[in-house]
Amino acid sequence: MAMVVPGIKCQPIPPCPKRMLNGPCGGVREGYTCEVDGRRCVWIDAFIEAKRRGNLKPFTEVLLDANFKVRDYKPKTREPKSKVMKLLLERKYILAFEVETGRNIDLTRFKELSRELSPYYDTLTFTDNPVGSIEIDPLAPAIISQNNGVESILHVTCKNRDRVALTSYLMAAAAAGIRNIIAVTGDWPFLSGAKYMFPSFDLDAVRLIYLARLMTDLHVDFSGRRIEGNPFFHVFTAFNPHFAPLELEVLKLIKKIKAGAEAAFSQPIYSVLTWRKVKKYFKEYGIKVPVVVGLMPVKSIKMAKVLMRELGIHIPEEYVRFLNGNKSYEEIYSFNIEYFRKLAENLMAEHDGISGFHVLTFGDLKLASELGRCLRKLR
Ligand code: SF4
Repeated sequence: MAMVVPGIKCQPIPPCPKRMLNGPCGGVREGYTCEVDGRRCVWIDAFIEAKRRGNLKPFTEVLLDANFKVRDYKPKTREPKSKVMKLLLERKYILAFEVETGRNIDLTRFKELSRELSPYYDTLTFTDNPVGSIEIDPLAPAIISQNNGVESILHVTCKNRDRVALTSYLMAAAAAGIRNIIAVTGDWPFLSGAKYMFPSFDLDAVRLIYLARLMTDLHVDFSGRRIEGNPFFHVFTAFNPHFAPLELEVLKLIKKIKAGAEAAFSQPIYSVLTWRKVKKYFKEYGIKVPVVVGLMPVKSIKMAKVLMRELGIHIPEEYVRFLNGNKSYEEIYSFNIEYFRKLAENLMAEHDGISGFHVLTFGDLKLASELGRCLRKLR
């Protein structure tokens, strides 16, 4: 059954709680159920039917709602204007570290953080309220870090901001000198247990990417109204190598690239086999966008189980087996350094596609520094 979203004069859209127009969000759970309320994800059924009919073309075309007045723009590769983009295009294996902004409004710690991590990482990426946590907006920390010598990447989600708020936010980011963003749809706050939150979604990641490219290439917003001062930033996106069916995620990445995404940051991976599955589809569909692979050491069996159960992340048995039982911080630390050093080495040996690593350590700076040091030696 189709429904019409009030205020949007476009074709009826399927009954999706996040009002996705361009395929599924990252919230498809086991059994193809929706993270919001457990219904079967409408996009999965549409994909299965399209595959049965042998017509996947609609899954690769960018769909805009009628409130986008500039509709026929086709973003192209641009000259790099940020250090990160330059390294990505040169396939130099960038090293990125993800920073969760937290709830402490004393922001001087971001100065120290950027100084501490600058010897190891080319860029710091600042998250935008992941999994429904309520944290400091990443714009101020990203500016502080950049002013202290490490180029920033700002995560921007569509959650709880309509296109007006997103346009305004992106203008502020450009005005403050942010040169890179990661545009994503945003999670439902299911992991935080915050059942009192009811997020709203106006755009999806594909339309946000397109909006960002309108702003930075044509200097107009979604309504076609001019933005003065030549805003510019590079636009990246997310990719989930654990998504099932993986082909559908790959098709969505094609849409994101057509909308203007210049690189993709992947969810964490734990084995080369995961990457090989992705590589097969990239080859089949001719995808050549630089991919920065997520590396996320886990420090407890409890956390590993959450990642596997709730997010469908594949973690090899040998890794899970190690985490079982009582292990000291030092034992887990040493295991993780060696595990991810080897994994990175093996991934780099796969050659094509991978353009860097995005390290996530949940705020463990000792682990972040040492892993960054090891990864830097590899390139
Ligand atoms: S999983 Fe995402 S795309 Fe699918 S129905 Fe739910 S919100 Fe919509």
